[in-house]
Amino acid sequence: MTKPIQTDPITGLKKFNTRAAKASDNIAGKGYSVIDDVALKTLPEPPAGAVFNAEEQSKYRAFKETREGAADYMAMEGEFSKYLEDVYSARPIAREALTDECEILVVGAGFAGLLLWYKLQAQGFTDVRFCERGGDVGGTWYWNRYPGIACDVESYSYLPLLEEMEYFPTMKFASGFEILEYCQKIAEKYGFYDRCLFHTTVGETKWDESTGRWEVTTDRGDKMRARYLILANGILTTPRLARIKGMETFQGDAFHTSRWDYNVDLKDKRVGIIGTGATAVQVVPEVAKIVKELTVFQRTPSSIDVRDQRETTAEEIEIWKTEPGWARARRERLATISSGRTALKGNDDFLSGKVADFKVRKKFATEISPEELMQKQLNTNFRIMEQIRARVDETVQDPDTAAALKPYYTYGCKRPAFHDEFLTAFNQPHVTLVDTAPIGVAEINTKGVVHDGKEYPLDVLIYATGFQWMATATFEMITGRDGRTLREKWQAEGTKTFLGLHSHGFPNLLIMSGPQGGGGQFNFTRGIESHTDYVVWMMKTLREKGGGIFDIKETPEIEYAEHCRAVDTNTRPLRDCVSYYNGEGKAEPGSLAYYGGPKKWHELRADAQETMEPYVFTPVPNMA
Ligand code: NAP
Repeated sequence: MTKPIQTDPITGLKKFNTRAAKASDNIAGKGYSVIDDVALKTLPEPPAGAVFNAEEQSKYRAFKETREGAADYMAMEGEFSKYLEDVYSARPIAREALTDECEILVVGAGFAGLLLWYKLQAQGFTDVRFCERGGDVGGTWYWNRYPGIACDVESYSYLPLLEEMEYFPTMKFASGFEILEYCQKIAEKYGFYDRCLFHTTVGETKWDESTGRWEVTTDRGDKMRARYLILANGILTTPRLARIKGMETFQGDAFHTSRWDYNVDLKDKRVGIIGTGATAVQVVPEVAKIVKELTVFQRTPSSIDVRDQRETTAEEIEIWKTEPGWARARRERLATISSGRTALKGNDDFLSGKVADFKVRKKFATEISPEELMQKQLNTNFRIMEQIRARVDETVQDPDTAAALKPYYTYGCKRPAFHDEFLTAFNQPHVTLVDTAPIGVAEINTKGVVHDGKEYPLDVLIYATGFQWMATATFEMITGRDGRTLREKWQAEGTKTFLGLHSHGFPNLLIMSGPQGGGGQFNFTRGIESHTDYVVWMMKTLREKGGGIFDIKETPEIEYAEHCRAVDTNTRPLRDCVSYYNGEGKAEPGSLAYYGGPKKWHELRADAQETMEPYVFTPVPNMA
């Protein structure tokens, strides 16, 4: 048997063998079906002349007001920590604790970690070590394995390294299971498994000024030192539960969608699901195919746009085989489209480069003001929502259910969902929607959910209650120069970063996909690509300098935080609602996602890299 930790006799570097075996092969519902019914995959036309007028605006406002303060989430701690257990892998591989040093330590083995390794090793960086909480690679796609899971951005643009891997996704929206296997193939091809410590969660991590190193501890007893620390552990990493009275008393099986327990056989069971976000929208149609009764507890409806899933054709593959860089070119074209809805209109002809644009551009005779532009955007978004509401009316038979499924908020308030079988699922006699607006499910007892005095007995209860947004626990673990953690600094001073990648006082640290991190858009992979390129640039810069310590100056960080606040505030009318994107309405403007657009972010990045003004480089202390 290969030892879990070995030393490569040629390089002197440690090689790891800690990838865990699969816990079980039980899975169901590999992505969504291809639908033939054209009516189900066509969005009705918007009503003629629909504009977002005062009357419609007041409806949205009323909806928002009823939601304010309704959300009450909690972390999975104490008796609820069982919901965090890794149900996908066999027990962690036993190994000795490490007390050595590496050059670059990366937290996370999802898309960002894999892409980073690919790019770092291509540039000759070999002393790189990854720590991953899960038993295998994949990140989001490791943890989320619920029935029906698939990507929501077309896989030809979403999956990284398609050309290098000579891989062609089987479907336009590849199933999560295919994506997970693809991640494993990347890891195998590029030797990632040798570099990664699986089932290893990074804990207290402190900057040591005397050595110019990060002191990294883990839940496996490691006490490692690293010259550079890179956070690549995602934006929706930590699952959360709704806080509901009596939830601990439920006697049936219960789990969160990100720890789907396939040992619980749903066949012929009474199953309840709490939540109707992007996850539940994919879960409901698949689970409805298996169970005896499905009860969906909804507080806020999602906007359900068309999906139009299809298989990749043999002709496409033949063409792509002869086009070097086909996926990168496609991703760049997709990136010219600004939102999830128009991305659907960005049809294959545009994305494959056959036609120059995805829409006919209007030319305005005179320049329009920012206010007029905003109103135009609001009108466009309103018309999309009208189409989405019309689709519910056309699809859902029961009028009360249809009324409850219609969202009254600005498009993009909640993450737009896409599905061609979700709405029709409610036409099946064994599927029931319980509208719990505005407060949501507030009581659970030993038998099931209680709402409005009515008991819904259940055998299995599934929490589709989402994740903390841009708030991984890692931020509480990393202590910088002045003895504060990232979280403490941001709590005291407001979120302050430069480009989302640096935070002053946290030298030799780079944060990928964190708060204020721009450079991408709704295709998350593009953001990750921008960030990996930046990390590799910084590592190369330091190599050219013969090593050393970098930090960001205070002023550029303050200016960037102000810029984040301004662009968030300016575009707020487009997101005038309550959702996790704005901390359920409580987040300070500019403290979470970056709303300046990829172009602006890249301008700021390129300027910094050219002038080198924002950075401070100092030598590493003499460690003799
Ligand atoms: P989510 O969007 O945060 O949804 C959580 C759901 O739980 C919401 O519908 C919420 O209602 C509901 N909820 C919370 N407490 C409740 C209560 N007491 N009673 C009733 N309902 C309650 O989480 P998610 O669906 O897991 O999605 C999270 C994100 O993951 C997505 O936005 C997306 O970015 C990503 N995702 C991506 C894909 C993909 O690409 N294929 C698929 C799935 C997820 P309220 O809305 O009223 O708060």
